[in-house]
Amino acid sequence: MNRRGHSQLQGIGMTSQRTRARMVERLRQDGITDEAVLAALGAVPRHLFVEEALASRAYDDDALPIGFSQTISQPYVVARMIQALRAGRELGKVLEIGTGCGYQAAVLAQLATEVYSIERIAPLLAKARANLRSLRLPNLRLKHADGNLGLPEAAPFDSIILSAAARQLPQALLQQLAPGGRMILPFGSTAQVLRLVERNRSGYSETTLDAVRFVPMLMGVE
Ligand code: SAH
Repeated sequence: MNRRGHSQLQGIGMTSQRTRARMVERLRQDGITDEAVLAALGAVPRHLFVEEALASRAYDDDALPIGFSQTISQPYVVARMIQALRAGRELGKVLEIGTGCGYQAAVLAQLATEVYSIERIAPLLAKARANLRSLRLPNLRLKHADGNLGLPEAAPFDSIILSAAARQLPQALLQQLAPGGRMILPFGSTAQVLRLVERNRSGYSETTLDAVRFVPMLMGVE
């Protein structure tokens, strides 16, 4: 990084703690009540995950472009999904589909024992690795793969979270959910809702939550 870039980042660094605290206050006002989730969002420097040109907007409650036609999720949506997934209990071993820039993976790593995150676009995953390097999160592993297939070698998972909208429930993911485990996903094509799936002794139960807007879950890798 050149000298100017360095000083710009430092400038943001000095104010980002305060800006992040304001972001957390806003999440609280918007109905996020899980203190562990609020602390996790308060701990991850979101500006590290967006282009320098957008860094000043990193703590606004907006989705921002991260390249390859993808976006970093809005802080409220990240908080909302993880709060619903946790429902007050531990996340345990987590699988995330759609690493993107790696922001949500870093938030999950604050709360989970282990996080596996899968991304289908190789150069985006490389970007996520670079973004995450300085945070040194030993419980986070990234993998270039098609999330529709899950990650059989690391299954079962206590929690699964999808960052891209599925048109149907991926069967492999349902199978890789541990008994008592929970999965949250944006579901649908043009009209999307958050859906929470729980695996219990007799099968799966589903709850529908808020309306959302996510990029679609695609097939294969690139
Ligand atoms: N969690 C991310 C949000 C990324 S946007 C963040 O915090 O920034 C959704 C991501 O899902 C995109 O990067 C997209 O490439 C990825 N994606 C879509 N379909 C996928 C699939 N089948 N397997 C893995 N990743 C997928």
